[in-house]
Parts: sequence; C-alpha cells; structure tokens
Amino acid sequence: MKCIHCQNDAGITYRINHNGDLFCSDECYETYMNTIDTFNDHGHPYIDQYESIRRAYLDWFTNWQTDLEEAYPDHPLLLADKMNDQIDEIMNQYVDFYWTKGDDGPFAHEIYQYLKKFEQLQKEILNWRPERHTYYYLSIHNDFDEWEHFSLHLKEINAVKLYFLLNENVHPYDILAFYFETESHLHAVLDELKAVFGEEFVQESVYYSPAYICEGECHDYEDIENVNMNELNGWFYCCSCEMYLPGYFTREELLAELTNATTDDSYLERKRKSLYYEFYIRKVKRSCRYHNVEFPDWVNIELDY
Ligand SMILES: [Zn+2]
Ligand SMILES: [Zn+2]
Repeated sequence: MKCIHCQNDAGITYRINHNGDLFCSDECYETYMNTIDTFNDHGHPYIDQYESIRRAYLDWFTNWQTDLEEAYPDHPLLLADKMNDQIDEIMNQYVDFYWTKGDDGPFAHEIYQYLKKFEQLQKEILNWRPERHTYYYLSIHNDFDEWEHFSLHLKEINAVKLYFLLNENVHPYDILAFYFETESHLHAVLDELKAVFGEEFVQESVYYSPAYICEGECHDYEDIENVNMNELNGWFYCCSCEMYLPGYFTREELLAELTNATTDDSYLERKRKSLYYEFYIRKVKRSCRYHNVEFPDWVNIELDY
C-alpha cells in the first residue's frame, strides 16, 4: 500500500479519497486534494462518517493498551468491560454499513473495514491480561499473633536488622505476614531469621512464596498458589474479591443462564436483588462476547462504571 502522493508505504494512519486513492496521512491527502481541480470529498454523503470512524479507530488503536496498563491493578477487568461497551456504542452509529457490508463505494467500504477492525480490537481487549509484577509473601508461625508484639520481642532480643527488614513490609490483613518488592529483600529476611532464630525455626515455622496484587478491590498481596487463575480465565482475584465475578461462564453455563432468564420470571428478579447484580450482568456480557453469543435484551441496563 503506497501513498499516491509521496510514494511512501502507508501504515495504520492511511486514508482514502472518494476515488479510493490511498494516502499515508492527512497531510499528503490535503496537499494532493488541494492541487487537483476536480470534485472534492466535502460534498460526499459518507465523508463525515468516514472521517469520524477513522479518527475514532486511530484513537482507540493508539490508546487502549496503555489505558488498561495504567488501570492495573485497580480493576482493569472492569475498565476492559467499559471499553468494549463504548466501542459497541461507536459501532452502533454505523450499523447500516454493517448490514450492507460497505457495498456503496470506497468510503462505505472503508467504514465497513473499520467496523471489522473495531471488532478485532474488542477481542484483543477481551483477551488482554496484565503483565504482573511478582512480589514475595512471607508468614511466620510462632507464639506472637501480631506484628506489634513480635516487633517488641525483636527489640528486646536486639534483633534490630530483622526489625527494620520487616517493619515497612507488614501485610495489611494477614496475621504476622509480610510482603516484599524483591526476591533479594525476601532472602535478606530469611537469612536474618536464620541468624536470629536458627535454621530449624525457619524450616518449620516460616512460609514464603511469590505473590501478586489482587486485581479486585483490595489490592492485597496474595500468595500466587492461593488463586486458581485458570478458573478465573487468567485474572488474579483474591477469594473475597471473587464476588466481582471475573472471567467468563463456560458456553454451557452461559446458555443455561440465558435459558433460566427467559423461562423463569423470578430468576432475574432474584439476581436483581443481589448486591452484585451489575457484576453478574457484566459477566453475562463478557461471556456472550467471548463465546460469540448475541446479548439478551435484559443486559441493556445502565452500568455504573
Ligand atoms: Zn504520503
Ligand atoms: Zn482482593
């Protein structure tokens, strides 16, 4: 695909005119169109729609991944849901071009191509998972059940180095547990625990493992082993944040949900009363997207993003 004006290869920012001539950029397009004295594009019935879907697509294409990466670890899954809903809204504005498969000249053809590119982008958004930073989790099982008491003990026995290695890294919820940013910090703690309490104590009473941050509400450091990421379709949610219903239903589960909702009037009514109704709706929509099943009407509710 070469630009008709500058002969360079045209990449993602390519555009066309009403003849279907190809340009690498808006600049080449404008320069070229200003030099020819023929029918220009401004009067074309599809030019505004073509310009706006092209702009919208380039904007989404450029930003979707960074937006999700920046949201991590704060519920990026919910942002991904929102993004796919927003793309649906954009695509709905061009639905006529969808039905006719863009069969009405070069602009209509291009609008249809952008609709298909948006569909592809929705799949990428659906399948996106964060690149996770690995932390390290460590818990100590001894007679002290709180850091407050254990830290006093460390001061009493003059284990100052161990105290400082642990003090800024106390786990917010778990009993006498800690988290570290780096493996070397973990190893420094293990060495110091051995020096102070002996090798046997560390073997019998200290547990440690790699950890991720929960991608739900709590942002807790959670032992990787505690979360079955396969069941959550590659998301990392602690057991309390699983109430936000990450991941998809299997196809069979989804079809059963859809059947229950249509055959049993009280089924959705009961769901509506649940605190997590919105999250149930999101999961149904996500699962429909994943399994290429059409949305039922009852998922069209205002979601609070
Ligand atoms: Zn060019
Ligand atoms: Zn959580």
